Amino acid sequence: MRKIAIYGKGGIGKSTTTQNTVAGLVEAGKNVKVVGCDPKADSTRLLLGGLAQKTVLDTLRSEGEDVELDDIVKEGYGGVRCVESGGPEPGVGCAGRGIITSINLLEQLGAWDEKYKIDYTFYDVLGDVVCGGFAMPIREGKAQEIYIVVSGEMMAMYAANNICKGVKKYAEAGGVRLGGLICNSRNVDNEREMIVELARQLGTKMIHFVPRDNMVQRAEINRKTVIEYDPTHPQADEYRALAKAIDENDTFVIPTPLEIETLEQLLIDFGIAN
Ligand code: ADP
Ligand code: SF4
Ligand code: MG
Repeated sequence: MRKIAIYGKGGIGKSTTTQNTVAGLVEAGKNVKVVGCDPKADSTRLLLGGLAQKTVLDTLRSEGEDVELDDIVKEGYGGVRCVESGGPEPGVGCAGRGIITSINLLEQLGAWDEKYKIDYTFYDVLGDVVCGGFAMPIREGKAQEIYIVVSGEMMAMYAANNICKGVKKYAEAGGVRLGGLICNSRNVDNEREMIVELARQLGTKMIHFVPRDNMVQRAEINRKTVIEYDPTHPQADEYRALAKAIDENDTFVIPTPLEIETLEQLLIDFGIAN
């Protein structure tokens, strides 16, 4: 089983890209589990057709220790097993710790038992913060393979570079590796070339360039992935291609984060100066 974590700046498209890509893997016959690791709990909405799912932490709070797997794992599109870890009450407790509590509970309840024949687990992890809490899934060895969603906008690239610093730290101590950058386009000038170069300098590669397309939002309003909502649309093929690229990926690296000056120079060379 491959255990993958998706990181990237808030709002960059982690949850959308993860679910659409998972739909591509499911279509190709893979058994997939998605664990939302964001207090927003919107990592499985498109796979569940909007079915409201009670989070693991909410369930723990209301049911006590008496939780069963069926209470917190729901089957979505093509049999994807969906979980939302949820978060602490706002202002109370550490969200990162909540994620680990959820994952540990899932493990105890046998969520990854042989009988489910899970090929892939995706952790969709909150935002740009690389605090100790949100590094938990990689720090505790829950995920071995990281993809970073990025665009050609400065703050997204800045966040990607920061995340690489975190990945590097834990990669040197354990087995976690960077599998690549996913460019989720914002239609920035020279975006593709710039992200290819950013990836090269980080010691990795751009695994796929996902175009910006309103179909993504149209499908989202209908609470579906593009693959489910309009399987013949070109955007559906983009997600199939990304799914295939991840499935066939065999280059996993310890990233080499950039100095801030180098990152700024990249923006000057490819973007701002043009
Ligand atoms: P994150 O999980 O990183 O916070 P989301 O996945 O929630 O971000 O995406 C934020 C918004 O961007 C969503 O409304 C989504 O529909 C939109 N979006 C993401 N990717 C694309 C794309 N390739 N084309 C158009 N809209 C997109
Ligand atoms: Fe929040 Fe991170 Fe601090 Fe935990 S470690 S309370 S997740 S900022
Ligand atoms: Mg999200």
